[in-house]
Amino acid sequence: MTDNRHTGAKGVRLSGVSRSFGSLKAVDGVDLEIPSGSFFSLLGPSGCGKSTTLRIISGFESPDAGRVYIGDEDVTDLQARRRPTAMVFQNYALFPHMTVGENVAYGLKVRKMSRDAIKERVLDALRRVDMADFLKTPVTSLSGGQQQRTALARAVAIEPEVILFDEPLSNLDVALRHQTRAELKALQHRLGLTSIYVTHDQEEAMALSDQIALMRAGRIVQTGAPRDLYQQPDTAFVASFLGGSNIVDDPALAARLTGSGLHDGRVLSIRPEHIRIGRSEGVQARVTAHQFLGMQTSLTIDVDGTELEARIPGDQEIPADAFVTVEASREVTDDR
Ligand code: ATP
Repeated sequence: MTDNRHTGAKGVRLSGVSRSFGSLKAVDGVDLEIPSGSFFSLLGPSGCGKSTTLRIISGFESPDAGRVYIGDEDVTDLQARRRPTAMVFQNYALFPHMTVGENVAYGLKVRKMSRDAIKERVLDALRRVDMADFLKTPVTSLSGGQQQRTALARAVAIEPEVILFDEPLSNLDVALRHQTRAELKALQHRLGLTSIYVTHDQEEAMALSDQIALMRAGRIVQTGAPRDLYQQPDTAFVASFLGGSNIVDDPALAARLTGSGLHDGRVLSIRPEHIRIGRSEGVQARVTAHQFLGMQTSLTIDVDGTELEARIPGDQEIPADAFVTVEASREVTDDR
């Protein structure tokens, strides 16, 4: 694996990594190739093994089997503090009795850097996240967003080659989460650090990532760029988890809606935004519920006894007796 010489970032590779807790296989034969300098998300439902995978990369957890490489180096047996990684935690894990500056300096003191060098690094890291004015502020008086940025500065200060994020935005309210998400993306772009980001929020993963690995029950089920995962899901689980989808398993209905049947073990995935509602053309349906969502309206429609969700822009008047046409669909493996 090549290093990114321009930024100092290194890629990460996992080969056959597994980790059990008792009889539970939390991580089950995971292979990953994370390019240097990329923003890579591990996405999946609660308990699917994302955090354990991240902790294995950081060295806080050991795998039962498999190897972890950072750049060309096999780091599987290396202690966490000897790895070129820094972690940003969900609860920020800041020291409450210290100021912002002392928190950011902590990791540098542990590394026995000189006082002057620490001062310079701390200020530099705080400037990068727009927190230089808070150098002497106790962390207990910061807002959630400021704490988040302090945690980020602390990670950046040790100049890691890989930065690991464990649901770092989940404690922020929606508006701040969106703002911090944009800042994080910009910072990652500037620093060019390889970033591995754990989240169960598909929108967050799509907005931030160059690539997403979707996990389920300890395994990676599909990896790809957000657009590719969204447009070309392999299975019903991927289609439903990423963006939501109508899954149709009745071949006759699939044929009525799209003009083509289904192969064995396959089902049809139809995105809600790919269903058009009209007054005269298409397959007859009944609209059974409306939900106004602001920019969109969600409609529940009944076609031959099967309920589908459609999303239409704005707030449109739709008659109860409607006709639906499907603009795009995809046959996927049934792994529900
Ligand atoms: P969440 O989003 O809820 O944090 P996750 O996808 O990050 O979930 P993990 O935290 O990796 O999932 O946990 C995977 C499974 O392993 C879960 O069932 C969890 O209960 C279990 N697990 C994790 N750590 C331990 C541990 N130290 N001891 C026992 N079981 C554990």
